[in-house]
Amino acid sequence: MDKIISLCKRRGFIFPSSDIYGGLANSWDFGPMGVELKNNIKSEWWKIFVHSRNDMVGLDSAIIMNPKVWESSGHTKGFSDPLVECKKCHRRFRVDHIVGDDVWNKVKDFFEEASNEDKEKKIKEMIPECPECKEKESIMAPRNFNLMLKTFLGVVEDKTSTTYLRPETAQGMFVNFKNILDSSRKQVPFGMAQIGKAFRNEITPGNYIFRTREFEQMEIEYFIPVPKDDKEWQDHFEHWRKQMAQWITHLGIDYSHIHELDIPKEDLAHYSKKTIDFEYEFPFGLSELYGLAYRTDFDLKNHENGSGENMKFRDPESGEEYWPHVIEPTFGIERTLLAVLVEAFNEEEVSSDDTRIVMKFPGWIAPVKVAVLPLVKNKEEIVSKATKIFNRLQQNFVCQYDASASIGKRYRRQDEIGTPFCVTIDFESLENNEVTVRDRDTMNQVRVNIDELENYLKENLNKK
Ligand code: ATP
Repeated sequence: MDKIISLCKRRGFIFPSSDIYGGLANSWDFGPMGVELKNNIKSEWWKIFVHSRNDMVGLDSAIIMNPKVWESSGHTKGFSDPLVECKKCHRRFRVDHIVGDDVWNKVKDFFEEASNEDKEKKIKEMIPECPECKEKESIMAPRNFNLMLKTFLGVVEDKTSTTYLRPETAQGMFVNFKNILDSSRKQVPFGMAQIGKAFRNEITPGNYIFRTREFEQMEIEYFIPVPKDDKEWQDHFEHWRKQMAQWITHLGIDYSHIHELDIPKEDLAHYSKKTIDFEYEFPFGLSELYGLAYRTDFDLKNHENGSGENMKFRDPESGEEYWPHVIEPTFGIERTLLAVLVEAFNEEEVSSDDTRIVMKFPGWIAPVKVAVLPLVKNKEEIVSKATKIFNRLQQNFVCQYDASASIGKRYRRQDEIGTPFCVTIDFESLENNEVTVRDRDTMNQVRVNIDELENYLKENLNKK
């Protein structure tokens, strides 16, 4: 993991946020390579899940929504439980779950008013050891924790101006259900997709970009008719499970590194009847990459209750009105990026005293597709030919022009950002109109005629 973090900083993938001010814990900025990676992932996802399907529409809803949205969705209440955390294993627990409602209700006020020191003392008496790792005196004082990031609109900071940064993109889609029906002529079953930022005041952020307080999601809400039996929703669920597995493989992730975890009934979120976590073998352990949930009709029903608006779908043939049920595949972008980086990272022994780091991204993900390298930088004809080739290739590929340092060093730099092909223009190129194309993975070099270059690169990029 340290090697990946260091490479990401060195090569402009990911920087600590506000770096010159000492950074901000668990906040990250995406550099020139990182933003290309992210954009490639987002646009490919959109192409696959929106543009290539007739039953999907896109949406880009606001991050700051009417706070009533979060009341109806259950976030205002559900995210403000008293939580404690174990200093050692970092597991979080609901205090009321551990000590019981009766006990908690009696001491609740004490924890509102007491000093930090007294709170720490009291909680250690109440919960002397971590229920999970059994470490003694490791439970920290409870905090009334609302996972939503609060903010204020307008100039007065009071209750009426309080609102939240959305903790998920999903609710933006539910509240637009009527607008989409009225404007797109879609019939159930159909789905909505959205890509955007979400914010959570995580108690234990960390593991690089795995768990942050600001992150991006790519989410789908797929609306289906009220299932007549379990098989009906299970078929849709299975369809999306397969779609998610295909996407993961498309990212270049070896599926044997993925574990599909069927969440036990007692651990399901309040809205879910079934959830699968797609867990990935991250360097710090098996952890959730994506989720797939059957949310029943929980959301539309609650938004109808909360807003007073009719959130039902009217079947044009039968005239029947109902709240569609929902299957929700959800994908975190930073976790995608992290898994892609981990899979692509290779340290190879080139000779007995030489190793190279090479990022073996699939061609479509690679932030730079082609590097154009004049063999020398002080020979006018070579530089001019290289510039011409670069200008031409740039119209179809994301390219880099690099004339500094030795050719070997330049190859290594491109290997570290995962550029699939390097095109070198040398003295011979002036004679025979051919260039050397070096393959990132095999390091093989072939001579290609400049007139054939674009076709050659296109064809071979698709094979990566
Ligand atoms: P976790 O159990 O890891 O907290 P979650 O089950 O709360 O995740 P969801 O609410 O299902 O996560 O969110 C959907 C997706 O958004 C997750 O699968 C993950 O990819 C991503 N995600 C959630 N929280 C974070 C976070 N704090 N930082 C980065 N990505 C996140």
